[in-house]
Amino acid sequence: MPADERPGLTRRHWLFAGLIVGLLPQATLAQALPLRISNGARRARLTLILGAGQRYAINAAAGPDRLIIQLPELAWPAAGLPARGGLIAELRFEPAASRLTVLLSEPARVRLRPGPAVPGELRLELTPVEEDAFARLVRAREPLLRGSLAATARARPLVVIDAGHGGRDPGTIGADGTLEKRITLATALELKRQLEAGGQVRVAMTRTRDIFVPLAARVDLARRQEAALFLSIHADSAPGARGASVYTLSDTATDPLSEALARRENNADAMGGLRLPSVTPEVASILLSLMRAETQAGSARIARLAVNELGEATALLPNTHRQAAFVVLKSPETPSALVELGFLSSSADEAALRRPTHRARLAQALARAVEGYVRA
Ligand SMILES: [Zn+2]
Repeated sequence: MPADERPGLTRRHWLFAGLIVGLLPQATLAQALPLRISNGARRARLTLILGAGQRYAINAAAGPDRLIIQLPELAWPAAGLPARGGLIAELRFEPAASRLTVLLSEPARVRLRPGPAVPGELRLELTPVEEDAFARLVRAREPLLRGSLAATARARPLVVIDAGHGGRDPGTIGADGTLEKRITLATALELKRQLEAGGQVRVAMTRTRDIFVPLAARVDLARRQEAALFLSIHADSAPGARGASVYTLSDTATDPLSEALARRENNADAMGGLRLPSVTPEVASILLSLMRAETQAGSARIARLAVNELGEATALLPNTHRQAAFVVLKSPETPSALVELGFLSSSADEAALRRPTHRARLAQALARAVEGYVRA
């Protein structure tokens, strides 16, 4: 029988396992239970074999610091399993409460382990965080993670990351001479690295080097590969402005700043020496009408997630989610958003964007937004 069709483990299996476990010394308890632990100080991994379709929700709690994995049913024996030597101090099974508690030796965050989902397995990875970050996790109203375990291995969704400009088109040039094309590529590559480490999506890039790629080719890549999401990375320029912003497509811009920006970004093809056949207003309106309501809703959702996450990582431009008529956002099938990381015309933003640590924070915020988007 193929692995995908294996029936889920029944309650009776676990009760039987429970009987055996009751007779075992603590040391062999871990081997008898349907779980695997690798307990490092910088990274701990915990795999629970729960059965296909099993739902779960994970919350953080303090005093003592712990992660609580809530399941509709936990037919494991009541037990406490010490797991000293790493981030996990002890595992506690409370079948009466359908709960498995991971006691921590220091504050840690949890995420799904990188790599493709394995049917019926909840594969978690824990990494240390600062105390205040853990306190934020404890205060969160929503579970840190929740979902339902895959019944069959599914292909992970594809996200296309578009590093703006490149080659002969430098994009905007900062007050101190920073080229937008360098900032966009460095951030896009860092975002790719983080998303791949997260293991929840596949990533394709419109460019990975300093080369010129026409705008239409960027959109086309996402369409041809049936991407779940298209994220275009830029850095802006405007006198007096600073902060990050996120744009989605509209046939009219929400304000003059957005309109001027769309004109500049759309000009990239001309600067690269290749002119797109000019798009008549009629064609533009057909393009827009092709865009299904679903695509618009998806674009609005990733924009909202990105604004929320970027707000944790950096200063934001007021009215952070804006709309304008960008060529790169005109794919009728692919939910798309354009992120302006900041203003290179602002020397504060420019200095920040030159720092790899700042770009890594921005990439982390965007990776969280993307992962939130594909999870829902
Ligand atoms: Zn740009």
